[in-house]
Amino acid sequence: MSQLAEPESSSVTVRAAAKINLHLAVGPVRDDGFHPLETVYQAIGLYDDVTVTDGPQWSVHVAADAGIDLGSVPEGDDNIAIRAGRALTAHHGLGLTAEIEIHKGIPVAGGMAGGSADAAATLVALDRLWGLETSDEDLLAIAAELGSDVPFALIGGTAVGSGRGEVVRSVPDTSQLWWLVVPHEIGLSTPGVYRHFDVLAERGAVTPADPKVPSDLLDALEVGEPIGYLLSNDLEPAAYDLRPDLAELRARLEELGAEAVLLSGSGPTQLALFEDVDLARDAAARLTGLGILHWLAPAPVAGCHVIELL
Ligand code: ATP
Repeated sequence: MSQLAEPESSSVTVRAAAKINLHLAVGPVRDDGFHPLETVYQAIGLYDDVTVTDGPQWSVHVAADAGIDLGSVPEGDDNIAIRAGRALTAHHGLGLTAEIEIHKGIPVAGGMAGGSADAAATLVALDRLWGLETSDEDLLAIAAELGSDVPFALIGGTAVGSGRGEVVRSVPDTSQLWWLVVPHEIGLSTPGVYRHFDVLAERGAVTPADPKVPSDLLDALEVGEPIGYLLSNDLEPAAYDLRPDLAELRARLEELGAEAVLLSGSGPTQLALFEDVDLARDAAARLTGLGILHWLAPAPVAGCHVIELL
């Protein structure tokens, strides 16, 4: 059993950012059912806040910003935040339990890895609450077991992800971007989009190749040059085929003067890229006028960090 340092606080709040994929290359499905990925992740300024306090048993309560539908988020043991808590205590051989409060600012089932953000934030918050001093290496390993996007949620910024996306490496990024994030009230299931990707591959409608990260995108990020024409997402054909209604919204976003419009991960959230904040604000105002829910988020932003200790 690990030695516990003195607990510093009775409550810890950690903030975790949403992720987008600037590049998402998906290879053919493997025998174990997973798809090899090469992706460039970027953390953007939409956040979930996770507060942990000691409790007699594991519990989770979830609330959300206006416009975020909590419909499919479980409040029991299936919530990934509780799975994260159990994984951390198992790692240290401890029988501790906690109450977890999640405030979601990341759209649910929107392809922005909100659940993964909550898992990562819970690991960091509990580690701090109980003074566990888990090494970064161990936190990343526990995170990778919890889900492909959880390690990136820990580190934030901009990073290359490989394997299933869980092997992450930070990359230099001097860009200052603005993303207009446009959710959709009907979510898309990530496994469902991957299954449809396989169906399209069987039909020959897409031809998955060995996934690679383009060096021209990494070079542009490093020096802060425009990246709009370098964005790509191999899941777009599957997501748009499952949800043809998304094409109309995409066409509207393309009319706003964005440098590019991109599907976020497995969708259905769409992302319009701006490098000029005034153009981004004008576009946001036009969406407001059209009654289309959206958020304006800067990028890149930091990974999980403590915002309150009580
Ligand atoms: P992925 O992370 O697979 O890309 P996503 O970003 O599209 O998924 P999430 O918001 O992470 O979507 O939620 C995916 C599903 O995970 C939800 O529909 C819900 O059933 C489940 N889930 C479990 N715990 C959480 C949580 N803390 N927050 C959100 N969803 C959760």
